[in-house]
Amino acid sequence: MAGPHWTCPPVWSIFGLMHELGIMESALDAIRHQAVKHGASRVSRIVLRIGTLAGVDQDALRFAYEALAPTSIAAGAVLDIETVAARARCAACQTEFGVERGFIFQCPQCGEYSGDIRAGRELGIARLEFPDL
Ligand SMILES: [Zn+2]
Repeated sequence: MAGPHWTCPPVWSIFGLMHELGIMESALDAIRHQAVKHGASRVSRIVLRIGTLAGVDQDALRFAYEALAPTSIAAGAVLDIETVAARARCAACQTEFGVERGFIFQCPQCGEYSGDIRAGRELGIARLEFPDL
């Protein structure tokens, strides 16, 4: 006889989501401050800019948004996420090149190693739209 069966997400994904919940809480707090500053009572659209090296899972971030937005100033707002592709620069030959993940990257031009990340760590609010302004 089979007992009750539950499926649970693995522990790492819960911790991962807690990370994104914290980020979204901070974002909504910043958005509320911006709304107050602009004399707006609502936000209609939020655009976040997130680099591929920012260590943020966009699906988890959207999930956190669904969970937190309805009771916040962002209730009913559209969330858009702009992804910034990561780029590093080689100090030896000045080449800028796209990178996937990690901290040290090999230059495709001359083979030197570089940790000089020029883009991809972005994590912030790119734009807000207020309906009553
Ligand atoms: Zn190089």
